[in-house]
Amino acid sequence: MNQITIRASSLGSLFDCPASWYAKHIERIQMPRSPRSLIGNAVHHAAAAYDVSRMNKSGLTINEAAGAAVDYIKQYTTEVAWEGLTQKDVESKSIELHQTYCAKIAPNYDFVAVEVKCEPITIKVGNLAITLTGEMDRIYQSFDGGMGGMDLKTGQNAVSKDGEVATAEHIPQMGVYTVLAEEYYGIELTEPFAIAGLSTTNGQAGIGLIHHAKHLLLGNPETGEYGLLHHAGKIIESGNFYGNPRSMICNKQYCPVFNRCKFRGK
Ligand code: SF4
Repeated sequence: MNQITIRASSLGSLFDCPASWYAKHIERIQMPRSPRSLIGNAVHHAAAAYDVSRMNKSGLTINEAAGAAVDYIKQYTTEVAWEGLTQKDVESKSIELHQTYCAKIAPNYDFVAVEVKCEPITIKVGNLAITLTGEMDRIYQSFDGGMGGMDLKTGQNAVSKDGEVATAEHIPQMGVYTVLAEEYYGIELTEPFAIAGLSTTNGQAGIGLIHHAKHLLLGNPETGEYGLLHHAGKIIESGNFYGNPRSMICNKQYCPVFNRCKFRGK
């Protein structure tokens, strides 16, 4: 049986553009980081510091936690292809988004776990053994005691100008987190998976909900209903890693084969 390891955060991009996914995750072609991805990572760092402090009641202020974003940016500044945004832009945007998250999103949630690194799980799909890995941003507890996952997403299109957070593209990733966290903690995540969106263009924040992420990922083996993981396995087993030039990541900043992609006529 063939085996492959897939990170939760990469699974959605397999459906988006299989050719780009193959280049990044099978051929392992590295790309310099973009300023916007650095913003995402920096906000994750600072928001996690703040939420851990809330959980432990250690009293870190929002501004003190913002220091984690600035430290993170300074640490990775040499790995970034600086185009479109300067380091100063990235620092101020990261702090702004961190403050928005802490003021508008975090207070609405009671977190019981922050940055959860779960054990990998292997699931058989046809003749392929898929080992799923991932680190989940948050687990929250609702008023009636039910638990659910949360993931922070920053990006130009993370929140529309009407305040809506797109969720469909994140379903595979949140399905994997649900499977991993349930197994790791021996719990059931009964609440919807919350996507906390933070827009890097208009500064808006919002929440989008994904219901039944685990079911959408795994389907129902009893009724023979296929889930997204089955379809991922079929693409990988077929070896047909076709391109999608209409993908949002079809851009030289995000795709390592942009300049030699036959699906773009190169
Ligand atoms: S250039 Fe576009 S179509 Fe080609 S692999 Fe990259 S994202 Fe896909």
